[in-house]
Amino acid sequence: MKQRLESMLQEARSAFENAGSESELQETRVRYLGKKGELTGIMKGMGALTPEEKPVVGATANLVKEELESLFQARNEDVRRAEIADRLARERIDVTLPGRSSFRGSKHPVTLVTEEIAEIFTSLGFGIEEGPEVEKDFYNFEALNIPRDHPARDMQDTFYISEDVVLRTHTSPVQIRTMMRHAPPVRVIAPGTVYRRDSDITHSPMFHQIEGFLVDRHVTFGDLKGILTAFINQYFGREVGVRFRPSFFPFTEPSAEVDIQCVICRGAGCRVCKNSGWLEILGSGMIDPEVFRSVNYDPQIYSGFAFGMGLERIAMLKYGVNDLRLFFENDLRFLQQF
Ligand SMILES: [Zn+2]
Repeated sequence: MKQRLESMLQEARSAFENAGSESELQETRVRYLGKKGELTGIMKGMGALTPEEKPVVGATANLVKEELESLFQARNEDVRRAEIADRLARERIDVTLPGRSSFRGSKHPVTLVTEEIAEIFTSLGFGIEEGPEVEKDFYNFEALNIPRDHPARDMQDTFYISEDVVLRTHTSPVQIRTMMRHAPPVRVIAPGTVYRRDSDITHSPMFHQIEGFLVDRHVTFGDLKGILTAFINQYFGREVGVRFRPSFFPFTEPSAEVDIQCVICRGAGCRVCKNSGWLEILGSGMIDPEVFRSVNYDPQIYSGFAFGMGLERIAMLKYGVNDLRLFFENDLRFLQQF
């Protein structure tokens, strides 16, 4: 038995020595030291030994067991160290390699223009309001002094959801909603998406406007001119000429369209300004008393002005884009230029 133990130990030594990985090592351990392993197998024969032999073989068996354990421990250490070294070598990172740069998108030109304009007006003390794009007829038309039989409804080519619900044709309903929620003074701009049944080189069924209005006591046309001129000076430059031209809108009285000197030809006349030297950029006016009545503001006490502009048009002038549809095609060759 002693011999069997010793030859098993010999065998186990080389088995542990040859185990190259942690799992092989575990298998070897189970083979020799496991509950059904070789050592246990040999020890089963102990019952057949004489009382004199038993302690001798028992002592040897214990020594063999200890040696097997320490063989396993030592080899285990080696294998683990080798595996760590191997992993470090395999997963080595060259920190001197240049990094992979992530893809950076750019903002859409209409977003850029919206943000720039909003920043100028917020610096003048205006807040920002938003409203729903699917709007009730009341907010989009009625409350803005455009009753059902008003010819201005034809000008707007509306998308109707139902008889009483429309896709808003302008951002002006935000004026009504804001005034109904807040007592004067109010000073707000409202950028947003609007919809009209219109589609050609200068019209899109979906486009963007920014609306602004200010209501307080003693607001005059002089304030309107002052604020809009300050905006134009900041946005297009101080040297750009500005003119106010009488116009008509159902919700303002008096009304004015605002032109700036052509940014392309500086007033000399070109194709963009149709040789007039001027470009129309926004509509404005003093808020009609009828509008104040529909939101329960007293027109005897309060007055105010409102203005609105098409953001695609501003972006076209600012970046020299000649086809409105480019803004909606999402062609990356176009968008990456901004
Ligand atoms: Zn021009």
